[in-house]
Amino acid sequence: MGKSKFTEVITGIYQFQGISNFYLVQDSESFVVDTGLPGKAGQLENCLNTLGKNPEDIGVIVLTHHHFDHTGSLNKIEQLTKAKIAAHKDDWPYVSGEKGDDGPFIMKPFTKLMNLIYNIKPVKTDMILEDGDKIANYTVIHTPGHTPGSICLYNPINKVLFVGDNMSYSNGVLNSPSGRLLPDPVNYKKSMEKLGKLDVETILTGHGEAVTTDANKLIEEFINH
Ligand SMILES: [Zn+2]
Ligand SMILES: [Zn+2]
Repeated sequence: MGKSKFTEVITGIYQFQGISNFYLVQDSESFVVDTGLPGKAGQLENCLNTLGKNPEDIGVIVLTHHHFDHTGSLNKIEQLTKAKIAAHKDDWPYVSGEKGDDGPFIMKPFTKLMNLIYNIKPVKTDMILEDGDKIANYTVIHTPGHTPGSICLYNPINKVLFVGDNMSYSNGVLNSPSGRLLPDPVNYKKSMEKLGKLDVETILTGHGEAVTTDANKLIEEFINH
């Protein structure tokens, strides 16, 4: 296996698995979804080398939300690809460092330490996303709840849905964030109901496994349970 820590989950979508997952998507435009913890840029570089792709072919780094486990390698991946950084307008103040919420309470000391070790700097958000915006064939769906500016990305052509931390999948069940990881349960419920209207075949999560069968049924059960 060497350093090849990536899997083509479905055609043209490469998943980098870890404590948090991130993705390379080859669509009408190539883009990255999230960046994982610090120290992950090499995995993306290695994947691009294997595919014979130039890092600068990547146009956009899309953040599903601002939490550190999804933005840890943002600086390095931005340097590697020179891509624009896209985040929802309600999360970008946290991404840019203008507002100081390092994410889940339990992560705070760890975040501070990692910022120090990896010399992570605040970033400028280049693309401020809103509900309905498009990235290649993917539509941005604003799904506040886990964070104010959490988003999902949905492609009606291949029926892929990126959910970030809105849902995780394990033991055949979709799970919602809970406790401190769900500061706004009222909006979260509304957000998840939006997803129930979509025709989905593949769910790609920020944590845990991908859903590749019975996605619509699982979402329906998730919303109605
Ligand atoms: Zn999160
Ligand atoms: Zn996360």
